[in-house]
Amino acid sequence: MTTDASSFFSWSRDKLEAWFVAAGHQKFSARQLMKWVYHQGLTDVQGMTDLSRAQRDWLSATMHFKLPEVVTVARSTDGTIKWVVRVTNGNCVETVLIPDKGRNTLCVSSQVGCMLDCTFCATGKQGFNGNLSVDDIIGQVLIANSELAQRGEAVTNVVFMGMGEPLLNFDNVLDATSLLMDDLAFGISKRRVTVSTAGLVTGIRALAKATDVSLAISLHAPRNELRDTLVPLNRKYPIEVLMDACREYLDVLGEKRSLTMEYTLIDGVNDSPREARELAGLLRDVRCKVNLIPFNPFPGSGFRRPSMDNVRHFQTYMLKAGYATMLRTTRGDDIAAACGQLVGQVTDRTRRQERYRNRDAAEANRLAVQERR
Ligand code: SAH
Repeated sequence: MTTDASSFFSWSRDKLEAWFVAAGHQKFSARQLMKWVYHQGLTDVQGMTDLSRAQRDWLSATMHFKLPEVVTVARSTDGTIKWVVRVTNGNCVETVLIPDKGRNTLCVSSQVGCMLDCTFCATGKQGFNGNLSVDDIIGQVLIANSELAQRGEAVTNVVFMGMGEPLLNFDNVLDATSLLMDDLAFGISKRRVTVSTAGLVTGIRALAKATDVSLAISLHAPRNELRDTLVPLNRKYPIEVLMDACREYLDVLGEKRSLTMEYTLIDGVNDSPREARELAGLLRDVRCKVNLIPFNPFPGSGFRRPSMDNVRHFQTYMLKAGYATMLRTTRGDDIAAACGQLVGQVTDRTRRQERYRNRDAAEANRLAVQERR
């Protein structure tokens, strides 16, 4: 047994039960503990009257129920709320709550920064400083729930579309999704818990063996030569290989469910009729919905958002081609909480921030020289 208390929120049901059994207690008691905490909101172990005195003392000595520290809260005029939270390794990540017509969608982070460096995403520019623990991820949901409880509501949908690549933090993300979908914990339907990936094929295949959580693919381009420039991971797992993995995952989801294809529309880069046509062709035998996200700018990105006309044309083409195609309206951009704008506070271990700062400085210098001419 450990001497350091561990976070209760780091334990999926299976692991908690195994831990109880290993310590000589009943599996059943682990379930009682989960109900007290997740259903009754009680974290004072001594008040858990159906556990024995010995169990309560053992739990008091070995477990804690602390949430990550909230460093700042920002509230958008459109109702979106962004929390900056300090996670176990001391860095900060961002979590965004998007209330919309009776739904409360929480966009959670899975890593501090991101290793992937997609060219149009602000998170990538922060570099990377490690994986979040299960309790760091669950803590984000509990923080949002404590806010929503004040209006008698709770998080209804969770998307792993905050900072990081969830499939590169596979084990912790898997345990977190299992708690989110567990009736003894959050009890959110598997249709409302979505892992989003930039296309880590090995991760998709591993996920298919482990669960049937909903899956979104950040596609952004219908052909390799273009996708290579937006999502560097594409050079390792090109589109054909990614689509094969998607079809395998669809077998797991079953016929009634489909994947979500995310496509960030960037002016003059991937938003022309040619890309719409190619995208419709590519996805013909991949059961999916398409989610179009007009590019959200951030300083130094070098990309622009397309005109609303272009966005509508792209959407109309996809709709006519038979794809359920949603336009993700920009939410929370006044508090830098929109897709691709999440940065947290990352102590960069990759020196990427420094490289980008130098690149920005070089670019500014070049422009200044041009201007002087
Ligand atoms: N790494 C995972 C999880 C992050 S999801 C993934 O790639 O899926 C973040 C979503 O927002 C992705 O679909 C991403 O492509 C999109 N996104 C990133 N930067 C953006 C920006 N500047 N504007 C609009 N969407 C962006």
